[in-house]
Amino acid sequence: MKTLFSLFVIPCTLLADECYQFQRPLMGTEFKITTYAPTKAQAETAAEEAFAEAEKINAVGSDYIADSELLGLSKKPINAPIPVSPLLHRLVSEAKNMAALTDGAFDPTLGPLTKLWRESRRRHTLPTDATLAAAKNASGHQHLACDPYNKTLTLTKLGMRLDLGGIAKGQAADAMLAVFIKYDLHSTSITAGGDVRLGDPPPGKKGWQVGVRTFDKNQESSTLTLSNCAVSTSGDLQQRIEIDGISYAHIIDPQTGLGLTKNPVAATVIAPTATQSDALATACCVLPPAAAKKLISRIPECILHLPATASEPP
Ligand code: ADP
Ligand code: MG
Repeated sequence: MKTLFSLFVIPCTLLADECYQFQRPLMGTEFKITTYAPTKAQAETAAEEAFAEAEKINAVGSDYIADSELLGLSKKPINAPIPVSPLLHRLVSEAKNMAALTDGAFDPTLGPLTKLWRESRRRHTLPTDATLAAAKNASGHQHLACDPYNKTLTLTKLGMRLDLGGIAKGQAADAMLAVFIKYDLHSTSITAGGDVRLGDPPPGKKGWQVGVRTFDKNQESSTLTLSNCAVSTSGDLQQRIEIDGISYAHIIDPQTGLGLTKNPVAATVIAPTATQSDALATACCVLPPAAAKKLISRIPECILHLPATASEPP
């Protein structure tokens, strides 16, 4: 998340002797941990293990790392179950579930389109109709099957390619918090670019102060006091690109196969887990405001914040 309206956790200063912070570049963004621990050694042990979990998720599920297990799926024959590691199976199954929940607004099988769009952005040219049609034809979560018992994945269309870019940071943040909980360090927050996963509040506090910035210079960022949940912001400002006079976002509209053209593109979602909030924030950028509100209203314990201008009728 490299945009102006990324989330930030306001750092703690009052309990400096028990508050430990760690930071590391990962998944193309900066990961930050804030934790309250009895000793520095305990905090460091948990932080190292948590970062290692995120590295594992990246190594297995990245669509940037050429030899990732995820990209290896596209080299296998279609219509045959592919045995995969339990970790990849979980990451992909969670993503497919979120695709079903959002009716494909968030869809991890848009890989052929996200790859094509990266090339279009690089070249400043739209894909040809034929290339776009082929990539659209090879996308769609209904063409991906996850067998939970045999831990296999089946791709049923030639040219399919998965992209977990809209959910993996949330999955990593959840996995990292789980490490801290295992070590009994419950007062921990994980920030992964625009995704924040919160455990118990800092000692003596009601919650973590999470600032939600907006793209609007005239609009103050609001501060929320939250714990034991996740907050994700997806959207676009600095990542927009203009081709033939039209401004496109980096999130793909599954209908057109191209970057979203609405402007601004932004959504913040609060949900029980960062896996959910990350995927839902991406989906809420794709959906028209009314549809985004309807989607979030039927998911328990979820709250949606849209920028004021995005809520206005088109
Ligand atoms: P960011 O990671 O930039 O903060 P997102 O969580 O919204 O923002 O993820 C955007 C990434 O997700 C894109 O770079 C692309 O890899 C992938 N993506 C783009 N459009 C979609 C979509 N409609 N559904 C699922 N993933 C998408
Ligand atoms: Mg997302």
